[in-house]
Amino acid sequence: MSQKKTRTEGDMPDKIIAEARRDRERREKTYRERALKLFPWICARCGREFTGKKVRELTVHHKDHDHDNNPPDGSNWELLCLYCHDNEHTRDQVAEWYGEATPGDEQEPPSTHKPFAGLDALLKNKK
Ligand SMILES: [Zn+2]
Ligand SMILES: [Zn+2]
Repeated sequence: MSQKKTRTEGDMPDKIIAEARRDRERREKTYRERALKLFPWICARCGREFTGKKVRELTVHHKDHDHDNNPPDGSNWELLCLYCHDNEHTRDQVAEWYGEATPGDEQEPPSTHKPFAGLDALLKNKK
């Protein structure tokens, strides 16, 4: 019996991915809205005030940098303007704002390509 199971690659879970992404976006939108209801629309760093459409520039920062830690009382949130938020993460070298990279991963790759290795040897031989 030769029974070939044919799998159609067209069944790749694009839908699932799209759904997961939408889910995340919805969740982020939710905690943002909640944070905006809890806190005055002021950047916690520079004190800039936001009104109306400008509030788009106000973002939710997670104090412990954990996006999944969203206590209903907002104790893990801080409203920061885009600039201060960026600043915060640049300074801390924490990648929450940028995605997946983890701190400490920035080690120099071992360099195998040394264009001046030969030159170095030459200079040493001259001595
Ligand atoms: Zn600010
Ligand atoms: Zn943040």
